[in-house]
Amino acid sequence: MKLPYAEPYKIKVVEPLRRSTRREREQWITEANHNLFKLRSDQVFIDLLTDSGTGAMSHHQWSEMMLGDESYAGSTSYFKLKEVINDLLGMPLFVPTHQGRAAENVLFSAMVREGDMVPGNAHFDTTKGHIEFRRATAVDCTINEASKTTLYHPFKGNIDLNKLEKVFRSHPKEKIPLCIITVTCNTSGGQPVSMQNIRDVSALCKQYGIPVFFDAARFAENAYFIKMREKEYADHTIPEVVREMFSYVDGATMSCKKDAIVNIGGFLACRDKALFDKISMYCILYEGYLTYGGLAGRDLAAVAQGLKEGCDFFYLESRIEQAAYLGKLLKEYGIAYQEPPGGHAIFVDAKKMLPHIPKEEFQAQTLAVELYLEGGVRAVEIGTLLADRDPCTGENRYPQLELLRLAIPRRVYTNNHIEYVAACLGNIYQRREKITKGFRITKEAPIMRHFTVELERAQ
Ligand SMILES: *Cc1c(COP(=O)(O)O)cnc(C)c1O
Repeated sequence: MKLPYAEPYKIKVVEPLRRSTRREREQWITEANHNLFKLRSDQVFIDLLTDSGTGAMSHHQWSEMMLGDESYAGSTSYFKLKEVINDLLGMPLFVPTHQGRAAENVLFSAMVREGDMVPGNAHFDTTKGHIEFRRATAVDCTINEASKTTLYHPFKGNIDLNKLEKVFRSHPKEKIPLCIITVTCNTSGGQPVSMQNIRDVSALCKQYGIPVFFDAARFAENAYFIKMREKEYADHTIPEVVREMFSYVDGATMSCKKDAIVNIGGFLACRDKALFDKISMYCILYEGYLTYGGLAGRDLAAVAQGLKEGCDFFYLESRIEQAAYLGKLLKEYGIAYQEPPGGHAIFVDAKKMLPHIPKEEFQAQTLAVELYLEGGVRAVEIGTLLADRDPCTGENRYPQLELLRLAIPRRVYTNNHIEYVAACLGNIYQRREKITKGFRITKEAPIMRHFTVELERAQ
């Protein structure tokens, strides 16, 4: 028989978790104004809020931390990282940044102006935030299949080339500073982009003279999906796939809190020297000198090691199979989610789970609160709260999907934890008709409101 996947590591240090009572949780979530970001982490049993910066570092990474060189300029840790980015990604130029959004800030300061259009596949919220903050527009060109949760498509992160070309045709070139491909596409469910699509988008961008960048937070998970689902890559190693992916783009922003398996860090990589000079100025202004960019030397060293570990096939297999296992269990309970399972998370279809709650009462947030109450599990709404209001009309933007994201931290939880989470959702599914009230907003910020929004139960 074919042997099952198993984690290519064992546990050396454990962090105790405390289980709470439903009564405690009712009090805590009320005190948090029904916003799960406002909970204290010790009020949470299993934390699937995000896979960002929540991974477990290896002992190799911890030993790299000890070797970190804290020199202000020219740190040897910087050169270690430079070598990995050049060898693994084929990107000769880079600046470190304190995290992914900082790389976006530096890049967009150099490239994006008021009135610009920035096409891509369902931009991540910080990406969109940085674009809209500059009074430019993020244009979502994702394929239509991405919004049909129960439809199988191997690469739901793909960009629709017709939609992209329409943007190119209807605006002058000067108004389109870059196109962004997010790999994997977080917003549409951790769904991958195929090599074919990356190649085609790159060719179209070249034809119109538009630079193309990766939002590369989960580039290694994307590479795993390419290897498993795109026939011609079945015999390629992950680093080979990664190298080819990056060969089609002009640069990348990276949140190292994802596939570099560190708790903090990011970078911005590119090929063009003129752009690098521009970027350098903003990096120094916002992040720090070019060889540390807002990070300690030890962080740079851990990133360098983590990038390599993040591209290990057996690690990626165990990670992505764990997400798929959660999906399989939910399916057995009859719960609909974005299919096929994403790389880092399962996105439960809250509209299908709570169809009787009106969208004005935030279906996915209602499910998030319910999941916390049920078992102390923290997940995050990817729906109307996250989508913010339209900056022009001030109206709520209702996305096609109301999703509850269960993001799985890297190398942190066992499959017993996964089974516990699935059972919580199974219980909620059974009593779903008894959940009759959603929420209304009592306080919100004008941009990226979901982090700080305050809610009360709708009457
Ligand atoms: C997390 C993330 C970012 C932002 O990175 P931070 O490190 O959180 O600032 C950007 N894009 C994608 C796709 C992400 O997942």
